[in-house]
Order: sequence, then C-alpha cells, then structure tokens
Amino acid sequence: MAEKSIIIIGGGIAGLSAGCYGQMNGYRTSIFEMHKLAGGVCTGWKRKGYTIDGAMNWLVGTKPGTSFYRFWEELGAAQEWQVFNHDQYSLIEDESGKVFTIYSDIDRLERQMMELAPEDEAIIREFTKAVRDCGRFDMLVDKPQELYGLVDKIKLIKMLPYLRFVRKWGKITTADYAQRFKNPFLRKVVDIDPTGDFTDMPMLVRPMTLAWQNQKAAGYVIGGALALVDYIQRRYLDLGGELHCEARVEKILVESDKAVGIRLADGTEHRAGYVVSAADGRTTIFDMLDGKYIDDKIRGYYDNLQLFPPLIYVGLGVARKFDDVPPSVSGLTFPLEKPVTIAGKEQKILSVLIYNFDPTLAPEGKTVVIVQFNTNYEYWEKLYKELERYKAEKEQIADQVVAALDKRFPGLAAQVEMRDVATPVTWERYTGNWRGSYEGWLPTTKTFMIRMSKTLPGLDNFYMAGQWVNPGGGMPTAAMSGRHTIQIICKNDKRKFVTTTP
Ligand SMILES: Cc1cc2nc3c(=O)[nH]c(=O)nc-3n(C[C@H](O)[C@H](O)[C@H](O)COP(=O)(O)OP(=O)(O)OC[C@H]3O[C@@H](n4cnc5c(N)ncnc54)[C@H](O)[C@@H]3O)c2cc1C
Repeated sequence: MAEKSIIIIGGGIAGLSAGCYGQMNGYRTSIFEMHKLAGGVCTGWKRKGYTIDGAMNWLVGTKPGTSFYRFWEELGAAQEWQVFNHDQYSLIEDESGKVFTIYSDIDRLERQMMELAPEDEAIIREFTKAVRDCGRFDMLVDKPQELYGLVDKIKLIKMLPYLRFVRKWGKITTADYAQRFKNPFLRKVVDIDPTGDFTDMPMLVRPMTLAWQNQKAAGYVIGGALALVDYIQRRYLDLGGELHCEARVEKILVESDKAVGIRLADGTEHRAGYVVSAADGRTTIFDMLDGKYIDDKIRGYYDNLQLFPPLIYVGLGVARKFDDVPPSVSGLTFPLEKPVTIAGKEQKILSVLIYNFDPTLAPEGKTVVIVQFNTNYEYWEKLYKELERYKAEKEQIADQVVAALDKRFPGLAAQVEMRDVATPVTWERYTGNWRGSYEGWLPTTKTFMIRMSKTLPGLDNFYMAGQWVNPGGGMPTAAMSGRHTIQIICKNDKRKFVTTTP
C-alpha cells in the first residue's frame, strides 16, 4: 500500500487538483492543510452578511472547448458553476469624468480607440490584431513537457507561430509599448502599471488577457473563489480523498534521499509512497527540507526573482446598488482630487471593483466593493510586531478609502455597513505564501519563459506543484500543475494516466 499512497502538503487549488487526479488514478491520497479550510489563496471571507471575494477576477477555461475547460470539468466545477461573462474589462475615468471603457469585445474596443486617437491608427491596429491572433492559439496544456514524446514535439512545431508571438510580445514591457501611442490618454490606458509596481511586466499579458475576454473564455464564477473551491473539494471527497485541515506540516521525512512522509506541528508522523508539496515553495525547500536538496539554479530563483507585490485589500459592504456603473472584470479607476498616502506610499488614483454582478455576495439591494493597493512587505511585517499600531493603520486606511469613494459616489460613507482590511501579513498567516506574495513569481520580460522543475536535485519520490513552480501563478495553472504532477507519478509507476468526469 505504501507505494500507492501520496501525501499532499497544502489544500489550495494545486493540492486539491493533485488529490483529485491521484484518486482518479488509483492512489490513496491525503491532503494536509494548515488552515481550517481548503482553498489557500483561492478563498473569500464572510463579514456581517457580506462575502469578500479574495481571488476570483476571471477564471481561464470557463468556455467549453477551450484547453483549460477540460480540467474544470474533470475537477467537478464546470458541471456546477454559473458563469458571468463581462462585457467590460475595465473603466478608466480621467480628471474631467470622461470614461474610457476597455470592452471585452475587441471590435468595439478598437472602434473606441480609433475614435479617441485616429493619429494612433497603426499602433491601435497592431495591438487589436495581437488580441485577435492570440485568441486563435490554443495552449498545449494536456501534458507536462517532462513527458513530451516525438508526437508532442511534432505538435510543438505547429505551435511555432504562437511561440513567435509570445517571444515578440514577451520582450517589451507594457510601459515601453504604451510610449508608442501618441495620445496621452491611451498611453495611460495601455500601460498596465500606472502605479509603477510592475515596471518589467511583459506586454504579452495585455493581448492574452483581452483575448480571453474577447472569446468569453475567462468568466467569473458566481459565488466567487469560495464556490469554486467548494465544487473541487466536494469532487475530491467524492473520489475518496482524505482532507486534514488544521494540519500544519513542519518537516518532510526523508530516508536515504527518498521522501517517505511528513511530520506535523503536533508531532504526529504520516507516511506515504510519494510526497507532493503544493504549499509555499520557500517553506518547502528551506524549512520542511532544511535546504538540503537544492542547486544554484533553484537558490538563484529565491535570491533573485521578483515576487508579485503583496496587497492591501480593503473590502466594504455598502447598503446601496451601483446600477449606474457597468460591471467590469477589473473595476473602475479614477483620479483622486487630492492624493492620499497609504502605508507610506502616495496614491493618485483609486481602482474600485464593484461586485454588482454577483448578488450572492451581499444581502438584497447591497453590494461588496473592493479597493486594493500594492504594498511593501517589510512595512507590514514590522508593523505587525506592534499589534495595536497594525490595527490602527488598517482602520486609518479604511477611513481614507471610504472618504475617497464618498467623493466619487456621494453619500457612500454613510452607507458603509462593513469594513475589512487584509494586508500581506494576512496572506502570509492564512496561506503561508512567502512575503505575502499571493501569486508567487512575477512574470517579467526576463522570466516569463522560465520553466521550473517539479523535482528537487537528489531527492526521490518528491514533487512540487502550484504557483511556486509555475511562474505567474493563477488558478488554472495551479489546477494544471496538480494534474501534471500526477501524470509524472503515473509515468514513473508505469500506469496509464486516466481521468474521469463526475
Ligand atoms: C486578490 C487576488 C486576485 C486573484 N485573481 C485571480 C484571478 O482572477 N484568476 C486567477 O486565475 N488567479 C487569481 N489569483 C491567484 C490565484 O488565486 C492563485 O495563484 C492560486 O489560487 C494559487 O494556488 P496554489 O494551490 O498554487 O497555492 P496556494 O493557494 O497558496 O495553496 C497553498 C496551500 O498550502 C497551504 N500550506 C502552506 N504551508 C503549509 C504547511 N506548512 N502545512 C500545510 N499546509 C500548508 C496553504 O494554507 C494553502 O492552502 C488571485 C489572487 C489574489 C490574492
């Protein structure tokens, strides 16, 4: 039995996915999750009758027939979910209150860009063509590259136009590309990084994101991240998997350079034929394994690569509707009359995501809104050591956000019934992610093509899954990563990898 069992550390999307595919393939799997509920970063929290969603902006793969859809079907989510596809990606207001809408429909977006800036015709056409081109490529996600054979390599040749596309758009930053526009407003719209936190973000993310929206391939799952996790967790339990919550793994047990099990914080030990860590990468490598299985390449990642900047996440429950604001994926951005300083950093604009498209998150006639800021981890790490100051700072931020929103939506301050502020320390405490980086490694022009190994040098029967071995993170990637890990384990055990759907 020992060879047929798998211990999975972490019950985020990657861990749950590894668990589901492990069960489908005849392994006895047990997930050990440190928090009291599964989901990891893919989560939400309930406050005073409102649900603050913590991860669901868009989910790649909600459209039947697209590459990731199959995973969500196998994981039991696609059969259950109700998907909302946005017509607007985002709304950007200027100082005069004029709104530029980034439409999901690329033809409509192109028309609007042309009306606004006919002088930029050539670059507008190039950009919108990139969105259309990107939508024509379907990613090869069915198999991990570690298992590619000749047939797969031939399929890769067919992907050459896609690889060329990726190389072209991956080399230039959003900031540099934006400079090619003559129109100053379009320059701001195209630059993904008005706050200066993603200076090396490849332009590729723009056409990719808009292509998914244009195709209605990345919708919002009603009920948000909690609903998605609930579907997958049920699927895992129905497949016979064991989920242990409030079970923090402290050490991975190793004998003769083979992972044989884990030790929990309560001192109990659990053994299995394989150990898969779908938890934070740094904790796994440097704490659970004491940094014994590492080489210069892996050390280099942890010494040099950029992380997603962590967040200050302000959730508000507001006793009003926002029928006048069109629902959008990433919200409404507007300039502040007077800049505000949030956690030591000046903010000149505010982006607010209004969940007026998901009635399940708030009582009838009321709405959840979220404002987020990228922030500095050290600032919060230090503050958290003085709990009263930490709490006061969160209150002060909520006050500033409410005041700024009240200017844009007069009367809002008096309608706020619930306020909640999460910080990088919140993410670190509840999900274990290093420095509160909720999506792991930041894709940059230098790193977006990096492929990280799921194994560690010199350690057998051990794999990693999830966002710390898939730069860029995201829920579909996490689901794919769990699946790929089981495909590799099946190959090792000379088992044919199989999948089922409920
Ligand atoms: C605000 C926000 C918006 C987002 N929007 C989107 C979006 O629109 N679309 C999208 O695709 N993605 C989005 N993401 C990112 C996405 O949610 C994550 O990339 C993904 O959920 C990561 O999954 P994972 O399983 O790899 O890692 P995690 O979710 O981090 O899972 C790791 C798990 O391991 C557990 N763990 C850690 N240490 C231990 C230990 N010692 N013992 C036991 N368990 C442990 C953790 O508690 C956690 O449950 C968003 C994230 C945030 C925060």
